[in-house]
Amino acid sequence: MVDVGSFTSAAGIWRRDDEMDRQVRFPIPAYVIETEEERILVDAGLHPAAAENAARHYDTDELGIFELELEASISVRLDLSTITKVVVTHLHFDHAGGLALLPASVPIIIQRREWDAGHDTAAVKKNFFRPRDYQSVDEQIVLIDGDHDLLGDGSIQLLLTPGHTPGHQSVRVGERLVLGGDVTHFASGLDDHRFPIFADNFAAQSASADRLRVLRDSGALVRPGHDPDVVVPGPVAA
Ligand SMILES: [Zn+2]
Repeated sequence: MVDVGSFTSAAGIWRRDDEMDRQVRFPIPAYVIETEEERILVDAGLHPAAAENAARHYDTDELGIFELELEASISVRLDLSTITKVVVTHLHFDHAGGLALLPASVPIIIQRREWDAGHDTAAVKKNFFRPRDYQSVDEQIVLIDGDHDLLGDGSIQLLLTPGHTPGHQSVRVGERLVLGGDVTHFASGLDDHRFPIFADNFAAQSASADRLRVLRDSGALVRPGHDPDVVVPGPVAA
């Protein structure tokens, strides 16, 4: 995992029934999966200009509830010329903001229903998408529909896990590791379903959390989206 920023915000936004008057700093992760032939980036973190001044970068005050911080973007953390593929779990600014930093030759793999939602005015508004995050990468997009065997050898499976957003996906690496994305922000969310107070579809999110819980209960490590106690940079043990 590489550290690609953080957001500080009221705890109660991110876990139902937590306090609204307590501020918590949430880490923003990106992951690099290395095989013999591939170097796959999962999510792209914050765009540096958004971290510097979100209102100016996105031309909206909607992100005023967050204090964004970014020590180093993906283009500083990684040699992006070595990345062979990018998987985007979903289009929120803390996952898609850095896409614009990628070389134009790198394919970006995303669920079709997420991409479609990112171009639907009502869905953009409902899901707080910021089209600036992804409007420059149109030519690089590879759309998939549902679960997808990324390399064709079963080693990396993209799992359609909607609810947090319309076409959210998680990444299963081998049998023992699942990068859950924001199906749950906290590891405990797989059991207690205390999701953020906003979602595209809570029922779908619950079903996705159940799906990941089954994988966890059969022995996989399921990495949550932004749990400060769990989401720390460095090798991810599975
Ligand atoms: Zn997120």
